[in-house]
Amino acid sequence: MLKVENLSAAYGAIKAVSNVSIEVKPKEIVAILGANGAGKTTLLKCICSAMRKSEGSILFEGKKTPDKPYDVVKLGITLVPEGRLIFTNLTVYENLMAGAYLCKDKNEVKENLEKVYALFPILKERKNQYGGYLSGGEQQMLAIGRALMIRPKLIMLDEPSLGLAPIIVSQIFQIIQSLQSTGTSILLVEQNAYKALAISNRAYIMNVGKIVKEGTPEELLKDSALLEAYLGT
Ligand code: ATP
Repeated sequence: MLKVENLSAAYGAIKAVSNVSIEVKPKEIVAILGANGAGKTTLLKCICSAMRKSEGSILFEGKKTPDKPYDVVKLGITLVPEGRLIFTNLTVYENLMAGAYLCKDKNEVKENLEKVYALFPILKERKNQYGGYLSGGEQQMLAIGRALMIRPKLIMLDEPSLGLAPIIVSQIFQIIQSLQSTGTSILLVEQNAYKALAISNRAYIMNVGKIVKEGTPEELLKDSALLEAYLGT
């Protein structure tokens, strides 16, 4: 479904991603793990064309991804960014509608909204409240809900557990699993390695811009030296 081949990207002289190749197959949850600064966010930014790559190719369903981020969204790839980046001065409903911006079919928008409300009843309860008044966990739900408003084929989540209480983290991870069961593919960037491995089909470990290991959760969890060296666990 998604194939990233030999991707490199830099911020001026800082090479953030070097020669990275990853794949996400249909209906997979794939985790990208690694310490701060490993290049995980940069990789996601390149996939959604929010950042220009310097080398390599990104293929989605066999075709090169477009240069404009909104064209990437039209293909069915959405990003739930690190720090959620919801619109704090818009209501919950307006935030969700912002996610549906590219969908011109009103009935489809309505249907998607109902699906999001069914997945996150709290968002329906709070639909007229400003995003800024939600708790961290509710804001994360809103960010995921917003990304679901165009029925993505691939959803990329950047650090969805960051700053959330353990009980909320468990809820968010359950929701990610339920998205997989509806047929959505998931690319999950996480520092919470054990939580991410518990729900992933495969994972890549990044360090200083490079992939240093790939495997199933079982394979990676067996390698305690690897986990300690790259994930500090
Ligand atoms: P984190 O979990 O802290 O977000 P990460 O694995 O997502 O880490 P990136 O944010 O992709 O890593 O950063 C990779 C490298 O690029 C780091 O060395 C970082 O300092 C650098 N970097 C990231 N964003 C910028 C930027 N806007 N300008 C310059 N350098 C940047």
